[in-house]
Amino acid sequence: AKDEGRNTLRFFDPHMQAAANARAGLQSRLHQALKHAQFELYYQPQVDEIGRIVGAEALLRWNDPVHGLVGPAQFIQLAEETGQIMEIGQWVLQAGMRQQAHWQTQADLRALSLSLNISARQFLQEGFVGELASLLARSGANPERLRLELTESVLLSNVQGVIEIMQQLRTLGLWLSLDDFGTGYSSLGYLKRLPLSELKIDQGFVRGILDNPTDAAIARSIITLADSLQLTVVAEGVETRAHHALLLDQGCRKFQGYLFGRPVPLADFEASVRAQL
Ligand code: C2E
Ligand code: CA
Ligand code: CA
Ligand code: CA
Repeated sequence: AKDEGRNTLRFFDPHMQAAANARAGLQSRLHQALKHAQFELYYQPQVDEIGRIVGAEALLRWNDPVHGLVGPAQFIQLAEETGQIMEIGQWVLQAGMRQQAHWQTQADLRALSLSLNISARQFLQEGFVGELASLLARSGANPERLRLELTESVLLSNVQGVIEIMQQLRTLGLWLSLDDFGTGYSSLGYLKRLPLSELKIDQGFVRGILDNPTDAAIARSIITLADSLQLTVVAEGVETRAHHALLLDQGCRKFQGYLFGRPVPLADFEASVRAQL
């Protein structure tokens, strides 16, 4: 009876009610976004040790008719909760693969890799590998130039099952990257069993490397670990020359961050690649 009282109170709490209304509103606007093609991929450059653009990470944006350009922090979590992430994620895969297939036809863009973010829920959904295989075939994208960014949250599930899905993706020729590394759940024991090609150092650590010795030690350990597992390591959130210099000194060879370029619409990204040739 006590719990019931509490629930009733919560139900009539005007703040809770407002939050619930906001969620329902966002959910239906996301539905409209899918229906009316309001999503767009932005591209953020990834550079090698001498600063050449070698690829991009595709980052989702929503051109909302009311609120303008909306970033994923405003809607991905809700989409994961409502399941809309499945359809949104499929749109991202399709749009990213189509773009990469087009790059294959351009001599000056052919070598670029493209990283796509996959939500854990999407990755773990029954039939994900089959769907990917058919999207790949239909798009004509080159899987060797595509990288799927997964977060450690996929490892909260049955690890053996996750390894099998990863192996099937590798069999399709796709490369796998572990995003936001160090913030999640992976034990080092798992890490060597996962068919990964890349670790991304979370920008939280990168930000702290100059004045927080713990962050610096973590970044250094991740670079050493990646090296011994023969994985590429990407530092993300690199904003200043000083951060870049320290990471380079620690052995990192691939970078992403505002220092090298913000996420931008396709045409701007392609122009910056062509400008460096
Ligand atoms: P993420 O995958 O860790 O992506 C990196 C985020 O850091 C991006 O934010 C990027 O714009 C931002 N960033 C890059 N360089 C810098 C820098 O130098 N300084 C700072 N302060 N930030 C930097 P964004 O685009 O807002 O995306 C946020 C998150 O939303 C992503 O984090 C990813 O988890 C998720 N997301 C983005 N696109 C997709 C998508 O297509 N599918 C799914 N499932 N999630 C996505
Ligand atoms: Ca990412
Ligand atoms: Ca990340
Ligand atoms: Ca992140």
